[in-house]
Amino acid sequence: MHSKDLAAVSPPLDVACDHGARALHAPLSVAVLNALPSPTVLLDPDGTVLMTNAAWDVAVETVDDDRIAGGSGVDYFAMAQRAGGKVLGRRIVDSLRALSRREGASVSLDYSLQHPAGTHWYHLQASRVNPAGQLVVTHTDVTERVRAERTSAWQARHDALTELPNAAALYELIDAELQRRDHPAVTVLFLDVDGFNDVNDSLGHDAGDALLCQLAARLAGRTRSTDTLARLAGDEFVVLVRDCDAVGAEALAARYRSIFDESFDLGCTVRLTASIGIATVGEADTSVRSTDLVCDADLAMHAAKRTGRGRIRVFSPDLRNAVQQKVLVAGELRNAIETGQLVLHYQPIVNLPSGRVYGAEALVRWQHPQRGLIPPSDFVAVAEEYQLIAPLTRWVLDAATRQAAEWAARGLPLCVAVNVSANTLAEGTLVDDVAEALAGSGLTPDRLIVELTETTVAEDPERAAAQFAALRTSGVEVAIDDFGSGYSSLGQLINIPAGVLKIDRSLVTGAADRRSQSAAAITAVVALAQACGMRALAEGVETAEQLELATTLGCALAQGYHIARPMPAAELQTWLRERPARAKLHPTGDPARHLSGAS
Ligand code: C2E
Ligand code: MG
Ligand code: MG
Repeated sequence: MHSKDLAAVSPPLDVACDHGARALHAPLSVAVLNALPSPTVLLDPDGTVLMTNAAWDVAVETVDDDRIAGGSGVDYFAMAQRAGGKVLGRRIVDSLRALSRREGASVSLDYSLQHPAGTHWYHLQASRVNPAGQLVVTHTDVTERVRAERTSAWQARHDALTELPNAAALYELIDAELQRRDHPAVTVLFLDVDGFNDVNDSLGHDAGDALLCQLAARLAGRTRSTDTLARLAGDEFVVLVRDCDAVGAEALAARYRSIFDESFDLGCTVRLTASIGIATVGEADTSVRSTDLVCDADLAMHAAKRTGRGRIRVFSPDLRNAVQQKVLVAGELRNAIETGQLVLHYQPIVNLPSGRVYGAEALVRWQHPQRGLIPPSDFVAVAEEYQLIAPLTRWVLDAATRQAAEWAARGLPLCVAVNVSANTLAEGTLVDDVAEALAGSGLTPDRLIVELTETTVAEDPERAAAQFAALRTSGVEVAIDDFGSGYSSLGQLINIPAGVLKIDRSLVTGAADRRSQSAAAITAVVALAQACGMRALAEGVETAEQLELATTLGCALAQGYHIARPMPAAELQTWLRERPARAKLHPTGDPARHLSGAS
């Protein structure tokens, strides 16, 4: 403890004297100062140190900084300016002088000092202790707290895996850029790895993480020092490109894409591609927010992905309009399912070569109050995207099984086929939904066919196979739809317990100049179906010639405009009744023969 002779200090140290508290005697004030855990000094109004406490003395020794002196008599203001530099030193001195002059009740400020041993952060707290303007100044070392705060602030703004800025930091940085009145063009590149989930699924999540780290490093290597690379989520990386218009950004995107020319080492060598979307805000446009810009780049990236792998696409407003339209349709569709605006049309399926009617495929339509009858191509994909496919499928299953049960009750024993898409399989409720529909309608399971598109099958083959197996065990028939239009592997096909293979219209129709190839393709698919114990169904038969071909090549079933277009249930009954008189297939047939059901 260094202290000036307190007798010389005039007036005597008088704690909280401003408020009329009693005077402290020197030995007691020494004890009071020493009891304070933070380094503390007692100052004269001119900044002369009158007394220091034990914690101050220890701190001076610990920081070992020539600019900080220990004892009493030292000029604290000069020391503050020496250690704090022009700005901070001036601020401390001015605040303390003002406090001494009775301007304000206390001073409280935070600052950092670069000591030889490293940076320390302090909280300075000063109070006037008597009318003469003497001050007690404490300096609490808050370095630990600041470091902890900085770490958590860093963590809040960075991605733990790649250490790149995260979404929160990215949006903040973009907004800061866009809010500058005179900002140049600002561009966002949105990069997403094609088939990243395949890496995770086939090689495991550790490999997925390793890929993301390698990718982050490569991207960082390509990023200009003026730009910011961030990881938004999963395999989505975003680059904030400052001072760059869409044209420059396309060239930059091509540079980023080229980092995929080299394969990745994930224990094994993996070749990948990425899709990149670009969105740009013009100079000085302050109306756009970061979320809009990133969203536009995301839309462009998805549009790029839809056209293939490794593509680059610049945002255009029609992409946003399309999304707004989809959101609108989804909202209306939800209501349409609930209020009974959906209807089913039925397209007959006939046995070959007998020509007997085997059943009908139920095809959904939307009877829109303003827009009329909307085909499934305009809303099934929206239903899939907006979690409406499960309620839609349930509605179709209920309506179709009730219709088939009604036909059966009228002596028309037809099978009914219902289409089911990928998302319904992913929800895992298909088997229960089918059972419920059958129980509700009273239709026997052997009169129901569930059709799954070939691409549906490819998405999660094991899960699909388990659900089909359960359906078939319950007596329901399973058909693979649109075979030949997608990418199913033959291995998957063999593992799927289906009884009917529907040959896609594209193969059946063929091009006029490629009839022999078309015939060869159908022959191959029929042979494949037979080898797997399935019946082949020719879809989209549009001409007598195609029907003849399908029959000759061994298809067991057929459907298509040549036989009949999809029609409402009531029309189907008329069609069935009148068919023998009109049908090109069996012009002299007997109605009962044509309605004899599955063979
Ligand atoms: P899909 O299951 O392959 O159904 C056959 C589609 O081809 C139907 O179109 C049908 O009208 C059409 N078509 C039938 N014969 C011919 C022909 O000879 N020529 C031509 N050009 N087309 C023919 P639609 O009704 O527009 O249905 C399109 C697709 O929408 C269906 O293809 C199916 O994938 C989907 N879809 C229909 N209803 C449902 C449903 O209830 N649920 C689900 N998830 N998808 C459905
Ligand atoms: Mg179908
Ligand atoms: Mg089909």
